[in-house]
Amino acid sequence: MILTSKAAVVTGSTGGIGLAVARGLAKEGADVVLNGFGKPEEIEKARAGIAAEFGVRAIYSGADMSKPAEIAEMMAMAEKELGRIDVLVNNAGIQFVAPVEDFPVEKWDAILAINLSSAFHTIRAAVPGMKARGYGRIVNIASAHSIVASPYKSAYVAAKHGLLGMTKSVALEVAGQGITANCISPGYVWTPLVESQIPDTMKARGLTKEQVIEDVLLKAQPTKEFVTVEQVAAIVTFLCSDAAKQMTGANLSVDGGWTAQ
Ligand code: NAD
Repeated sequence: MILTSKAAVVTGSTGGIGLAVARGLAKEGADVVLNGFGKPEEIEKARAGIAAEFGVRAIYSGADMSKPAEIAEMMAMAEKELGRIDVLVNNAGIQFVAPVEDFPVEKWDAILAINLSSAFHTIRAAVPGMKARGYGRIVNIASAHSIVASPYKSAYVAAKHGLLGMTKSVALEVAGQGITANCISPGYVWTPLVESQIPDTMKARGLTKEQVIEDVLLKAQPTKEFVTVEQVAAIVTFLCSDAAKQMTGANLSVDGGWTAQ
């Protein structure tokens, strides 16, 4: 186990990729902070399940990643309760699909806040402790959309390109201090986020559900398979290991060949 006596914060971890990442880190011995929205009983089931299955401490913060004050509270609570933050995974994210001229301004603001600015707020809170302890792993879950664009996703593409840029800057700032900062950029992973954008894409492009899956989603992915949440989680765990000590400022594509085209 590579993370015994370490603590991790994973934003947006009540479901999808984030929950798999939190479980992967707990399996390696890390205490974890779960964060995100959902039904209280389901969140508690996930939290208690992690604590029981892996014998670690698992705590929950309902902080809204669009609100800097709530992010600061979550980070302070994590340090107080778990004594440290060694691993920070910025995963919370939302999507909205619309032509740029119809893109609701409040959706633009929310996507930029949750998918980009929240990572700035968590990182600035976590870095001083990481520097003091000489160890830190910052992993930002970006997207193939950190490298390439798709139509109707102006806010998401802007946020993910921005997240990659910020990751590189932070990596340079903390280099040589035992801290790495990297992005993981998945292609399409089958999660509620992907499922929920299908109706809007159907509307925006005038397609059926099957056509969206075949001709829009998996069209970009040469392997013609969705990425699994466990595959993304395994890469986060790898980035926490000694083997990944010299990997920093990198963008790891997990996209079935999408961005190789
Ligand atoms: P998801 O919708 O399944 O889960 C998102 C998580 O974020 C949930 O726990 C949700 O409660 C939480 N969340 C949403 N808004 C929040 C807020 N304001 N404050 C706190 N938590 C909030 O999504 P997912 O597919 O697991 O995506 C996770 C990350 O991976 C996102 O950043 C997404 O952009 C990225 N990503 C996903 C895919 C994909 O195909 N699913 C591909 C590339 C990148």
